[in-house]
Amino acid sequence: MSAVRLARPMVDTPFQINMAWWERNRRDFMTFLRESSCPDCLSRFPLDAPLSEADYIDAETGEVRRLNDLWACIVEECAHAPGYISPDLPVATAIFRALVSRGNAPLSPVQIHQIIQRSNPQTILRVLTGPTAILGILPAV
Ligand SMILES: [Zn+2]
Repeated sequence: MSAVRLARPMVDTPFQINMAWWERNRRDFMTFLRESSCPDCLSRFPLDAPLSEADYIDAETGEVRRLNDLWACIVEECAHAPGYISPDLPVATAIFRALVSRGNAPLSPVQIHQIIQRSNPQTILRVLTGPTAILGILPAV
């Protein structure tokens, strides 16, 4: 393990949804992704319909990420609907949605706090660095 990986995460450390974590823990990422989308998109992408993937270009950073159709739809549509990150959501879910809404671009607790508009960067950092990874959200590698 490199020194970088051992460094203690701080409020400005970028975090990201780690897909390998979902595979390793046999958790179904798609179920969580579906729960993050609006009813309209869910009806457009039924459970049994295969999703295709396409390159998604981040308008802010110019980075290219590979997202499936449903995910791209969340980034472009659902995430802009009022209540996408509702105050009723558990904090962990709100953090997950913030990352999903950016197509999994790495976000620091400070940035996450700006997006979800609740809690504070220190608490968000504490949530993300507990004994078990929350929804596979780990320091970006
Ligand atoms: Zn939608």
